[in-house]
Amino acid sequence: MREVLVSTDFILGKAVGRFETHFAEYLGCRRAIGVGSGTEALILALRAAGLKPGDEVITAANTYIATVLAISQCGATPVLADARADDFNIDPEAVREALTERTRALVPVHLCGQPARMDELLGIAREHDLVVIEDACQAHGARYDGTRTGTMGDMGCFSFYPSKNLGGFGDGGMVVTNRTELADAAGLLRNYGQQTKNIHEIKGINSRLDSIQAAVLDVKLPHLDEWNTARRRAAGLYRELLRDLPVKMQEGEGNSENVYHLFVILTAERDGLMAYLRTHEIDSAVHYPTPIHLQPAYADLGRGAGSYPVAEKLAASCLSLPMYPEISDAQVRRVCRVISDYFEGV
Ligand SMILES: *Cc1c(COP(=O)(O)O)cnc(C)c1O
Repeated sequence: MREVLVSTDFILGKAVGRFETHFAEYLGCRRAIGVGSGTEALILALRAAGLKPGDEVITAANTYIATVLAISQCGATPVLADARADDFNIDPEAVREALTERTRALVPVHLCGQPARMDELLGIAREHDLVVIEDACQAHGARYDGTRTGTMGDMGCFSFYPSKNLGGFGDGGMVVTNRTELADAAGLLRNYGQQTKNIHEIKGINSRLDSIQAAVLDVKLPHLDEWNTARRRAAGLYRELLRDLPVKMQEGEGNSENVYHLFVILTAERDGLMAYLRTHEIDSAVHYPTPIHLQPAYADLGRGAGSYPVAEKLAASCLSLPMYPEISDAQVRRVCRVISDYFEGV
């Protein structure tokens, strides 16, 4: 950070280039383009892929709203597909049902750190010639068949919002890809459509990762794997201690490695349990209480309650328990004891 201040190299400076190189190396992909946020990473990826008004883009009904806002922002039409009850991710069967003549792209989201079912999803995309843009904003470092999330589709999008598995000291995001032409397009789009100063090849915007943020993220990146391992260890303990209680947990395919951005349980008594935890000074959260199709902003989708039953059930019953790399075994044990007391009516 001091180096950035001394050089006053604040915009697209050396620190940004360095972090882009390191992040691409970490993921095992060719190019990384630092942008202003995860939402803007998605917008620029969709625009780089040529998505335009009239095109339909399929994504998960239970994603965070930013995924869908990005699709709307580039003028395309979001089409929601319901989630699976086991891994909480987009259901490939629902994707098949949502396909139309106008479907151009698929945006799988690796929710809570759990990779979506990429084998099936990439198969559908190949069959129907769809662009695949992975929303990996909750899955920095997760793997599927040994490959990092974000690098399996045509492009991947990351957020460095402070609470993400890799977070900056403010907003930030990244588009990653193995395809040179898409990387070049995203690079132009983030900087007013220019490569050379004052020559504007396309109608871009201003969405750049700050040098200060890149400096912070570059220092944190070498720790990401050890932090994800700590999250996985805490998750393993939660699973063991909650096994016999009336709660459901996220279950992914055997070839996937969850990095537990969130540790989510499902219970019909969500609100009661949340209040009980709070009386014991244990914070918990709901990601997310209202599915996209029931948000006022998306009333125009014309899908009422009952349209996406799994997404609605998840919204009504999910609870995110404390999860971060530094959480201790004793803290996890205490959370589980309080949950156990709640169900035993103590
Ligand atoms: C955080 C998040 C985003 C948006 O990232 P911002 O950096 O906050 O714009 C998009 N999609 C998902 C799934 C997210 O969790």
